[in-house]
Amino acid sequence: MLKMVDEYEQEMIAALEKDLRRPKQECMIVELDFLRNDLKNILYNINDWVKPERPEKTFVNLLDDVVIYHDPYGVVLVMGAWNYPIQLLLVPVAAAIAAGNCVVLKPSEIAESCSKLMGELVPKYLDNECFPVVCGGIPETTELLKQRFDYIFYTGSTMVGKIVHKAANEHLTPVTLELGGKSPCYIDSTADIEKTVRRVLWGKMINAGQTCIAPDYILCSKETEDKFITEARKVLREWYGDNIKDSPDISRIIHQRAFSRLINLIKSSDVAVGGSSDASERFIEPTILTNVKGTDPVMQEEIFGPILPIVRIENAFEAINFINSREKPLACYVFSKIQKQINLITQNVPAGGFTINDTIMHIGVDSLPFGGIGYSGMGNYHGKFGYDTFTHRKSCLQKNFNALGEFLASGRYPPYSEKKTSI
Ligand code: NAD
Repeated sequence: MLKMVDEYEQEMIAALEKDLRRPKQECMIVELDFLRNDLKNILYNINDWVKPERPEKTFVNLLDDVVIYHDPYGVVLVMGAWNYPIQLLLVPVAAAIAAGNCVVLKPSEIAESCSKLMGELVPKYLDNECFPVVCGGIPETTELLKQRFDYIFYTGSTMVGKIVHKAANEHLTPVTLELGGKSPCYIDSTADIEKTVRRVLWGKMINAGQTCIAPDYILCSKETEDKFITEARKVLREWYGDNIKDSPDISRIIHQRAFSRLINLIKSSDVAVGGSSDASERFIEPTILTNVKGTDPVMQEEIFGPILPIVRIENAFEAINFINSREKPLACYVFSKIQKQINLITQNVPAGGFTINDTIMHIGVDSLPFGGIGYSGMGNYHGKFGYDTFTHRKSCLQKNFNALGEFLASGRYPPYSEKKTSI
């Protein structure tokens, strides 16, 4: 797989360009190098990971062997999503292979060029009998889901996640569901506003906001909101110039339906920054919305586009109440210099994961499990956690026939007596 990425890097970048008009540097950072690092991490550690575990023994088992063997589940179905169509497919596939499974790969048909490329390339590098690629849309996925798999790993929306979970249930197949949701971003008055704005806007703007852990909305006071907006105008001009549409550094919205949905969200709100769009290119300018209420349309669904609403709150307690009155998010962000405030939120908000004083970056730490909770998903992966996800831990207790062991355990045999069981 690593060889495939190295040898077909240009073709992958071209396919990402075609599907999303993704800038080359973004393709490298968030897609191809991300995948490469994961593959190298597996190759570097695999010999250690696969070793049978020898857990601590209790007094009762001192004479025995206690081992945990690592078994693959068998045949795994991995379904990718369109927003990072290469790495979201191949990172879990690599983990499944590392754990010894066969894998049916199902790229998302919505990223058409990348899906086609995966269908062509994977059979050139991986044994097609063990790792077939099934391309297609909803009818093909529906057929696939009727099959009995030993494990299903799905990345995509919560709505389809429920369909996958239901289908898996038919065969009692275990699942990992990597889903989405609205990831909040709380900014308090102590945050370094210049750095905060850059880090929030970067997290929002990679792949034009079509990132599962993009900061979905901001929670802050009126004073912080004013500073954020002033700084955001400066940063956006610095990054994309005066004519933002001409910048080569902004991806496009995946398809017309998603574009129209996003435009409707903008229409129903107060635009403080940006707001322009071009349907012919599916371009949407980075847009910041103010005077947003929790009941507004933009706060009812995951945005998945370059739109950033700001909801005014007064303090961290209000932020916690606001977040916890909604579905549990995949990611949560806090910007503050006060450790007590940070702890208050990290300890009281159930979320898939956190980055403090930045956005997105926790996804790149191999030693952190990546996954959601509640409607944002179940299970996790990345690094060793991916290997563990696709591994069945098979317990084995081995006894021997020596006389002492037999004597110590003899109390279990009938005829039962108080004396025998007190040995
Ligand atoms: P998608 O549309 O690419 O769907 C994924 C798969 O589901 C596709 O193969 C598609 O054929 C299949 N599918 C769609 N409708 C179906 C149906 N009715 N029956 C059976 N199969 C069906 O991806 P998406 O759902 O648009 O992805 C966007 C969502 O994914 C966002 O919510 C985002 O937050 C989430 N996401 C999560 C992660 C994560 O790691 N947690 C990563 C990326 C995206």
